[in-house]
Amino acid sequence: MKALVLKGPGMPFELAEVPDPAPARGEAVARVLACGAGLTLQHVKAGRIAAPFPRIIGHEITGEIVAVGAGVDSLRIGEAVTAYYYLNCGHCRWCLAGLEPLCENTGGNVGINCDGGYAQYIKLPAHIFIKLPPGLDYKAHPAEIGVVTDALATPYKVLRRARIRPGETVAVFGAGGGLGIHQVMMAKWAGATVIAIDTAPGKLDACRKAGADHVMAASGNEATQALLDLTNGQGVDVAVDYVSATVTLEAGAKALGRRGRLVTLGGAGKPFQVSSLDLLLKEQDLLGSRYVTRAEILETLDLVARKEVWPIVSEIVRLEGAEALHERLERGEVTGRAAILID
Ligand SMILES: [Zn+2]
Repeated sequence: MKALVLKGPGMPFELAEVPDPAPARGEAVARVLACGAGLTLQHVKAGRIAAPFPRIIGHEITGEIVAVGAGVDSLRIGEAVTAYYYLNCGHCRWCLAGLEPLCENTGGNVGINCDGGYAQYIKLPAHIFIKLPPGLDYKAHPAEIGVVTDALATPYKVLRRARIRPGETVAVFGAGGGLGIHQVMMAKWAGATVIAIDTAPGKLDACRKAGADHVMAASGNEATQALLDLTNGQGVDVAVDYVSATVTLEAGAKALGRRGRLVTLGGAGKPFQVSSLDLLLKEQDLLGSRYVTRAEILETLDLVARKEVWPIVSEIVRLEGAEALHERLERGEVTGRAAILID
């Protein structure tokens, strides 16, 4: 099969002919129709996220099952699938509770700890594949359907994690990024008033188109003040931080109102300070949100099937165009998601 192979961190893709994967017991193989391309993948390619090499990256796939190994009765040849991003075990207490991102025995990530979707075929443990629900025209829109599993489902999960209700005010930090812009879309779908914040002014138009009621190019104290001004000093109900740097987390926390919730996802795990008195007097919550459960992926796919929301895939290229696409990802020039279409 044709595959984009990375031989080491910081290396260019090598479009190579490699052996077709064959499923062992408990595994299945899918033909890949399309695979999403986002900044996380570029972090792996650039060596900022550690991965064993050589590696085929990519996890936001649309595919069709072409082979199943012994003992697999959950998948049939020809079924349309996407993939769960985490190699969760499926049997620990967290997996059994439907909280798969917290799996105690995680094997890492698709496209990092095993080969992923920048190839004609992908082999995974059978339970990592998620069957596409009916009503999705995945053959017409393989790129859009593929990115749902992360770019759209991760923000959908935040709606629940942060208990976002209609009429609330939600600030999204890093709103111009691939997940941030879909958070704007999902928060708007949930009936919130959405404020998109990004330091790149060039991304703010796209945020408006995705549903933002207000946009601002700001960070730090400036962002806090602008959020307080926009809410007549009341503060926002929810701040979702896809940058999660010390400065944005502290700006988001200070902009929270009574019963405000701050959600961190992404970032480099840096510490930040909050006022414990504000937490107490205003009954505020600090929350982490990690990827999404399988059930929530199915729910998000259903929303897409009903056309209530539709993922933003602004660039679609073939395998040969992946290197140039990743250079644009590195420079922050891609709006929403990009995807690779694979014949
Ligand atoms: Zn588990």
